[in-house]
Amino acid sequence: MDTVSLSGKELAAAINADTKERAAALTASGTAPRLALIVANDDPASAWYVNSLRKAAERLGIGCDTVELGADASIERIRDELTARSADATIDAIMLQTPLPAGVTLDDVSSAIAATKDVDGVSPLSLGLLASNLDGFVPATSEAVVELLKHHEIPLAGMHVTVVGRSNIVGKPLAQLLLAENATVTICHSRTTDLPAVTSAADIVVAAAGRIGLVTGKHIRAGATVIDVGTNESPDGKIVGDVDAETVRGKAAALSPVPGGIGPVTTALLMRHVVTAAEKAHPA
Ligand code: NDP
Repeated sequence: MDTVSLSGKELAAAINADTKERAAALTASGTAPRLALIVANDDPASAWYVNSLRKAAERLGIGCDTVELGADASIERIRDELTARSADATIDAIMLQTPLPAGVTLDDVSSAIAATKDVDGVSPLSLGLLASNLDGFVPATSEAVVELLKHHEIPLAGMHVTVVGRSNIVGKPLAQLLLAENATVTICHSRTTDLPAVTSAADIVVAAAGRIGLVTGKHIRAGATVIDVGTNESPDGKIVGDVDAETVRGKAAALSPVPGGIGPVTTALLMRHVVTAAEKAHPA
């Protein structure tokens, strides 16, 4: 079977074109959109991601402040910064980078981000709004999975989707979004017994575990669609996914590539959220 590659590049470009126009309109009316990236680590992968977000913002006409708090920042220091930026009228959007300092969890600090500026949907309020089907910012990576499937016209209603991963920022919010699309959803995690049996029952498998090559040809049924959310650094320094593309290609009907699949759509959606936050803060 020929496996279709579910590229995210075309969709990301379309989202970005719209975002750029909206950012320009805001700037013309004297309210240029502005994002604050809060960093409390010295992790090279995070630095690479922050740099790519800064470049994306610049290309789209979105202002971007990077606030470096240091890898030993305390819970209080991080919360104080998030609270201050939440109250700062010159900032429309806030993103807190991970990893956080040792001993600090996202749950310790994310409630200090105002929901109106929480463009990656990480705060308990944003996650609660999503779980209740109410309007709020949705974690961009989860949204990217649904948008990529829709873009490639892969139906979700009535389909059985298995998500491998149950984190608060990817797996769980994705399950909520898929339910809202009327999919039947199964969530797997590290304690799932017989992962291949569970994933093989699905029409669509989403791998979001952060484990290189976890999902192989043995984990999917012939003709399934496979979405690879994984962004892992391989021993030779390349970015690789959670899917073993070699064994999945030829068996799956469609597979999203890494890089070039979920990644560019996630960044594009984040930037769209920044502009949406700015528009809501400064209604025309
Ligand atoms: P977490 O480490 O927070 O969660 C990983 C999840 O995978 C956990 O629920 C864990 O189970 C589960 N898991 C781990 N090992 C296995 C296994 N062997 N079998 C089944 N389940 C397993 O990761 P994130 O959710 O933050 O990220 C997941 C992946 O997505 C990473 O590769 C990350 O880099 C990538 N990512 C990509 C983004 C993008 O824009 N493309 C953005 C954000 C993340 P348990 O709960 O039991 O521990």
